[in-house]
Amino acid sequence: MRVDYHCHSTASDGALTPEQLVTRAVRNGTTDLALTDHDQLSGLMIARACAQQAGIRFVDGVEVSCSWRGMSVHIVGLNIDIENAPLIAGLQTNAGGRAKRAVVMAQALEEVGVKNALERALAEAGGRMDLLARTHFARVMVADKKAESVRHVFQNYLVEGKPGFVPHEWASIEQALTWIHDAGGVAVLAHPGRYPHDEASERELVAEFIGLGGQAIEVITGAHSKKQIRYYVQMCVDLNLHASSGSDFHGVGESKMDVGRVPNLPEKLQPVYQLWA
Ligand code: AMP
Ligand code: MN
Ligand code: MN
Ligand code: MN
Repeated sequence: MRVDYHCHSTASDGALTPEQLVTRAVRNGTTDLALTDHDQLSGLMIARACAQQAGIRFVDGVEVSCSWRGMSVHIVGLNIDIENAPLIAGLQTNAGGRAKRAVVMAQALEEVGVKNALERALAEAGGRMDLLARTHFARVMVADKKAESVRHVFQNYLVEGKPGFVPHEWASIEQALTWIHDAGGVAVLAHPGRYPHDEASERELVAEFIGLGGQAIEVITGAHSKKQIRYYVQMCVDLNLHASSGSDFHGVGESKMDVGRVPNLPEKLQPVYQLWA
């Protein structure tokens, strides 16, 4: 098996269409793929069809944006029913918030010299206000040579304390888990090593997540160092959590891990697919 349970397409802030993404995943040897766009399900039908045609297993997924103690936390839902009405309605509230935030963010960026920020970011997002992510603004700013890469735009403009950052209230993790569970899915705490808090706060987040029925955490992701991977392997063992792995691929030159080029989990862990297989 070669698993990738976390990646993005043009249905959110990925650079490849679902078709292109699946083609690339297949070429990279993926046998088990989940597409997990931010707060969006619209890429899943076509991605599933492409995966089936190529003869690989496909898992319907989504990455739900959440707010927890003022911080953005992401919960991946895997093996969800994409026709589940409460899930669809919940994701729409997050997506509606995205559209409103984008207007404010564009104003903030205009003030630091980004011309026609909203119009151009919107073009990057295929004209869809409800999927506008910081990544789309970052791509516009790379084109403007405001910074040399998407990563540098984030560092200098789009994170807390920088001029283009707009605080935003997403769903609560309780809401996200309710939606995912209602849709028959498995909730995975995405890239836990990426959140800016200390170990005590992290323990509280993980305890709350487990208390709400969360069953898995992402151990291997492009966002984790080798040391962090070892740390989260141990956390899975200690807390009897299932483990997930995914690239978090967004596009060539933008992501540390290519889609499908995700190392295997250590054998001692319980892989997340056991929860639906
Ligand atoms: P949003 O959901 O619109 O707030 O944007 C979050 C997305 O921005 C994440 O899913 C990543 O794709 C991207 N992102 C966040 N932080 C960084 C960073 N430091 N460097 C590059 N991309 C980032
Ligand atoms: Mn993203
Ligand atoms: Mn994420
Ligand atoms: Mn992601």
